[in-house]
Amino acid sequence: MRNAPPSPARWGSLRLSDVLFEKLTLIGAGLIGGSIARAARAFGGMAERITVSSRSQKTLDRVAELGFADVCEIDSRKAVEGADAVMLCSPVGTYAAIAAAISPHLKPGAIITDVGSTKQSVIRDIGPFVPAGVHFVPAHPMAGTEFSGPDSGFAELFQGRWCLLTPPPGTDEDAVQKLESFWSRTGAKTARMDAAHHDRVLAIVSHLPHLIAFTICGTADDLADETRQEVLQFAATGFRDFTRIAASDPEMWRDIFVANKDALLEMLARFSEDAQAMARAVRWGDTAYIEDKIIRSRKIRQSLIELKQA
Ligand code: NAP
Repeated sequence: MRNAPPSPARWGSLRLSDVLFEKLTLIGAGLIGGSIARAARAFGGMAERITVSSRSQKTLDRVAELGFADVCEIDSRKAVEGADAVMLCSPVGTYAAIAAAISPHLKPGAIITDVGSTKQSVIRDIGPFVPAGVHFVPAHPMAGTEFSGPDSGFAELFQGRWCLLTPPPGTDEDAVQKLESFWSRTGAKTARMDAAHHDRVLAIVSHLPHLIAFTICGTADDLADETRQEVLQFAATGFRDFTRIAASDPEMWRDIFVANKDALLEMLARFSEDAQAMARAVRWGDTAYIEDKIIRSRKIRQSLIELKQA
């Protein structure tokens, strides 16, 4: 991490009373897009007008009912016209095609950004389509729930959470600061990070835990019928906690695993080695080893609580 969260003094010529973007376009209106729009409405100073685009008319109709956008437009090319900032809030596997479609319609001087959970793939997929004079600032708000869709969002989702920005070298500093200011106004803390570093960190703190959760639920489901019934009936906290994150959106997680393949496989290999070591300790009754690992885990969990990330 290169810097601490920006203080208002670092926002250069920006004042808290300034509205950052006259027109903000969000592509994708699920948990994250819906929460950004609601935060912009609730906290002010972020966007004068919000346009939302999505894949389906059904979602756009629901957005109109929920009332968190000024304009709903199914055609992403029309939705980005005249926008000062465009945020891609759909699964990361959709970014290349969306960027290719909207690229000729971006306003000179606009910021194009995203909320994707992987960052090297996003730079690879969007970067080539960014026209000269448009500023590309990749970002990842590290906040979420296991719910998805336009109904699941809420304005406070980002409060106290980190939003990591991974601007490629040479990105316009004013654009980066403007986006930092935007995220700060949602209540998030911001930091800048190199994209490759981001992907390694996220592989261990988020992607691997989800992979394990999806796997363990599959393992339970593969058990004989009778045992499976008991797993469901008597699920104690361990299994319940795993199934919470395993309820997450399949399309989104499929894309994240594929997009962050290298870092995820590296972390999985390291985890498998450690799991094997634990299995060996269990087999040989090495209680000192087992206890030591549990004590270490408790300390990590305690640190999360102290850092208010639990
Ligand atoms: P979500 O609730 O499932 O919403 C996804 C939205 O993307 C939906 O509105 C969907 O449209 C739209 N969409 C899908 N394909 C599209 C396409 N080709 N063109 C336009 N819109 C499309 O997902 P989410 O949780 O908000 O996640 C969105 C992004 O945030 C992902 O990139 C994810 O990696 C990132 N993220 C998620 C979390 C989390 O915990 N959920 C946290 C941080 C970052 P329809 O409904 O019309 O099909």
